[in-house]
Amino acid sequence: MNSKLQTPIDYLKGVGPNRADLLRKELGIHTYQDLINLFPNRYLDRTQYYKIAQLQRNNADVQIVGRVTGLKEVSQGKGKRLVASFKDDTGAMELVWFRGAKWLKESIKLNTDYVIFGKANAFGTNFSMPHPEMELLEEHEKNLRSAMQPIYPSTEKLSNKGITNRVLNKIMQQLFLETHGKFEETLSQNLLSDLKLVSKSEALFNVHFPKNQELLARSQFRLKFEELFYIQLQLILKNLIHKSKIKGFTFDQVGEHFNTFFKHYLPFDLTNAQKRVIKEIRADLGSNAQMNRLLQGDVGSGKTIVALMSMLIALDNGFQACLMAPTEILSVQHFNGLSELCNNLNIRIKLLTGSTKTSDRRIIHEALENGELDILIGTHALLEDKVKFKNLGLAIIDEQHRFGVAQRSKLWKKNTIPPHILVMTATPIPRTLAMSVYGDLDISIIDELPPGRRPIKTVHRFDSNRLKVLRFIRDEIDKGRQVYIVYPLIQESENMDYKDLMDGYESISRDFPSPKYQISIVHGKMKPADKEFEMQRFIKGETQIMVATTVIEVGVNVPNASVMIIESAERFGLSQLHQLRGRVGRGAEQSFCILMTSHKLSSDSKTRLETMVRTSDGFEIAEVDLRLRGPGDIMGTQQSGILNLKIADIIKDNDILKLARFHAKEILKDDPRLIKDQHRPILFTYQQVAKYKNIWNYIS
Ligand code: ADP
Ligand code: MG
Repeated sequence: MNSKLQTPIDYLKGVGPNRADLLRKELGIHTYQDLINLFPNRYLDRTQYYKIAQLQRNNADVQIVGRVTGLKEVSQGKGKRLVASFKDDTGAMELVWFRGAKWLKESIKLNTDYVIFGKANAFGTNFSMPHPEMELLEEHEKNLRSAMQPIYPSTEKLSNKGITNRVLNKIMQQLFLETHGKFEETLSQNLLSDLKLVSKSEALFNVHFPKNQELLARSQFRLKFEELFYIQLQLILKNLIHKSKIKGFTFDQVGEHFNTFFKHYLPFDLTNAQKRVIKEIRADLGSNAQMNRLLQGDVGSGKTIVALMSMLIALDNGFQACLMAPTEILSVQHFNGLSELCNNLNIRIKLLTGSTKTSDRRIIHEALENGELDILIGTHALLEDKVKFKNLGLAIIDEQHRFGVAQRSKLWKKNTIPPHILVMTATPIPRTLAMSVYGDLDISIIDELPPGRRPIKTVHRFDSNRLKVLRFIRDEIDKGRQVYIVYPLIQESENMDYKDLMDGYESISRDFPSPKYQISIVHGKMKPADKEFEMQRFIKGETQIMVATTVIEVGVNVPNASVMIIESAERFGLSQLHQLRGRVGRGAEQSFCILMTSHKLSSDSKTRLETMVRTSDGFEIAEVDLRLRGPGDIMGTQQSGILNLKIADIIKDNDILKLARFHAKEILKDDPRLIKDQHRPILFTYQQVAKYKNIWNYIS
């Protein structure tokens, strides 16, 4: 690499120790290299001129040519301001200064053409521009500076200490002077010519000193591509290494359990998506590398059957399998459901959760260790050290977002060679984002719901319409349906939320009195056994209403429940709302989701509610969610570096991301160790940016 670029920023002319210190602390700029990678947030386009009559109330920075026709000082309270009348051939406006009146009065030339630049604020139908930048038109035309003015990221401290945008701009100019604007190329010639990318030097110059919109756009494209390309390269390499380094059990048989189940006991035809995903998993299990696969599928898309059939393959090859779920309720439900499906298969399944009795536990532990148990289902109780398998071959985790990476790695250690891992999640992540975030996982997607599902009708109702909603609930119950009523429960204000829940429960109990109506309640403060009892009452249809907090969110399956009421819906995130809605619409009846809110709604809340009403496509909802919240909350984004992007935007630059991923893949397919001559700049750059520098040593 250009060694000059490693020079500490202190040495750049015009910087010095104080400014260097500020740049380090405030912007993380230590070297010339860091400075050159400080990219402008936006640009002021000074190629455009506005007429006064064209001004809009939009707060944009504008540039106008006109003349000052008069100046006056106006007193206001203690202060004074200088006001100029400014005119062009379409109208008049005011320019205002709160400081420097004396100097301005002396230097401003009346009735001479000026170019002014700044924000025009609207007052009624008049516009006024405070502290405009002013330049005589004559000089303006002589000036050769870039017409597009870059605006750099800044902090309050920086501008207070005099490192303004102008100063940053100057410093940047100095950097280009000292380096002669020549920077080593970081992409291969092939990429440059195939994609018609501008060179590195040209891109850097034009991003800091754009000559025009077109060059700026091409330069930004090139730099964004490069940034995303190296992230993808690292992720793909990591995945390749994982596959060649981490050996896994080879399940080469598809045997009796799988075939018998498939032929005789499969309760429905698999959807095409389910078939495809099972094929993908079978291929992984049959290779000699450890599987690390993420299975994404919207709520109700039928992930459970995929899990079961994968476990049957493990059993057919003489291994044990386990399925871990995030809550007791869900574990029990999986246990019951899977036990029933395997009824005729001569498979030994047990359930292990926090509330399993010690004596039962001992029996399970023993049976696991001597191989008398085939499948273990449970909560994170499975992770305890005491839980030892004779020969665990496949571990499945349901609802990934509740578990962390640490827990995944605990499962790895449950056998001498790590078992295959299948992680299932109903939180849809836009595919490209998932690919770039979960670099070490392969991804399967079930993008098709089982046939015959009726779309859930979703509406938004204000609390003031509660009576109507109650009437609706009553009608549905009279038709034999069951209803969920969910209250938010957010950690910080748990006590208050708990009160909301109990108040809600009481008022529901009044509106739906026993013995005609029976109500279940489930929340986080209850003992697992009580929760389970209440849950079972609802599942069996003994209660018609389930009042609950979000513990109900994950995976629960009660086909006869067809109404989901979400109280204070504005307090839920989009993906949570979507998950909750997924609890209904599982049976043959028309299902409903009613989002209750007060009238006070933020604009984000409104967007969330509108989105829920408009669509039930999990991926579309995920996109909106991503736009509202940014990628910060998505698991794993912190590790992948995807959040520390300097110039690209993971959402807006999705197309560039796909392109970068495609080319990174192609290059590695052709030359996995990047040893070909033409890939030298890529190898070189990779070594600079990658955390694991000699990663390719592993690739055979
Ligand atoms: P999720 O992906 O949310 O875990 P489940 O596996 O719980 O979904 O499946 C939801 C419901 O759909 C279950 O009642 C299941 O039996 C049913 N189901 C799954 N696959 C199919 C299919 N191919 N045809 C019909 N029903 C299916
Ligand atoms: Mg599920």
